[in-house]
Amino acid sequence: MGVLVVGTVTLDTIETPNKRVEDVLGGSGTYAAVAASFFVNPVRLIGVVGADFPQAYTDFLQTRGVDLEGITRVENGKTFRWGGKYADDFNVRDTLFTELNVIEDFHPVLPAAYKDIPYLFLANDPPELQLSIIEQVKKTKLVVSDTMDFWINEERDALQKTIERVDILILNDSEAKLLTGETNLMKAARTILRYGPKRVIIKKGEHGAISITESSYFSAPAYPMTQVTDPTGAGDSFAGGLMGYLASVGDLSEGSIRKAMMYGTVVASFNIEDFSINRQKSVQFQDIKARYNELQDTVRF
Ligand code: AMP
Repeated sequence: MGVLVVGTVTLDTIETPNKRVEDVLGGSGTYAAVAASFFVNPVRLIGVVGADFPQAYTDFLQTRGVDLEGITRVENGKTFRWGGKYADDFNVRDTLFTELNVIEDFHPVLPAAYKDIPYLFLANDPPELQLSIIEQVKKTKLVVSDTMDFWINEERDALQKTIERVDILILNDSEAKLLTGETNLMKAARTILRYGPKRVIIKKGEHGAISITESSYFSAPAYPMTQVTDPTGAGDSFAGGLMGYLASVGDLSEGSIRKAMMYGTVVASFNIEDFSINRQKSVQFQDIKARYNELQDTVRF
C-alpha cells in the first residue's frame, strides 16, 4: 500500500565536533521518504525546491523509488536551507539558521492520484501546509504528523488545528514538554491525547521512544550505537521507517505499531552513521532485518 510523505526537501549545513558539511541533501520529507522506501515502493513525496537544488539529489531520490511528481521546482527561488551545530556528545543541537525561502509561498495542490493514498505522513513542515494536505486527502487509513520547536514557537495556533486532525503525533521529548507546558513526560503525553490524536509517540534520542494511548504504553529501546557521525534526520527516518512498515503490512494493531517503532528505530540507527542520507545508499533490507532481530533480543527477558 502507498505512503504519501509531505515534508521539507532542504540543503543543510551541519557542524559536528569532527566535521562541517555544507548544502548537503536534507529535509524532513527527504529523510522520511528514503526511510519508507525500504518497505514500500513507490513512496510519494510532496515538497518544494528552488533552482539551486542539485540534479544529483533528485536523481538519488529517484533511484530510491521516490515518486517526485509532487515536487515543485521554483525556477526563480532558493531551496529551504537549514544549519545546525551539535555539541560534543551529540545530544544538544543548536539551530544556526532556518531560511524558509521557497516553502513560504508553497501551497501544494495534491495530484488526483495522491488523494486516496491510505498512509499519510506529514513530516515536519509549516503547520498550515500540513492542514491544507489533511483537507485535500480523501480516504486515508492513517494520518501521522511530526513537528518541531520552530513551529511550536512560531505557529502555535495553526499547529494546534493540525494536531487535532491527526491519528498519531510524533515528536521528541523536549518538544512534547514545550507544546504542553508540562515538565513530566507522561503528563505531557496525556495532554496531547486530549488535543485529539489517538496515540502519541515521543522520541527520546539515544534513550529510545515511547508510545502512549488512553489504554496502552510501550517503550522501544534505541539501537545501541557506538559510532554517531550526524544525528540529523534520525527522527524523520524513525517516522518514515514506521510508516513504511505499517503500509507494508497494512495493519494498525498495537502489535504492528510496536514492530513499526522497532523498524523505525533501526532505520534511524543507520541514518546517524553518516552525514545526510549517505549511509542509506548502501543499506540493504537484510541489514535492517538483522538489526531488528538484535534489537528484539535486547528487550527479551
Ligand atoms: P531532525 O534531525 O529529525 O529534526 O530533522 C532535521 C531535518 O529537518 C533537517 O534536514 C532540516 O533541514 C529539516 N528542518 C529543520 N528545520 C525545519 C523546520 N522548521 N521545518 C521543517 N524542516 C526542518
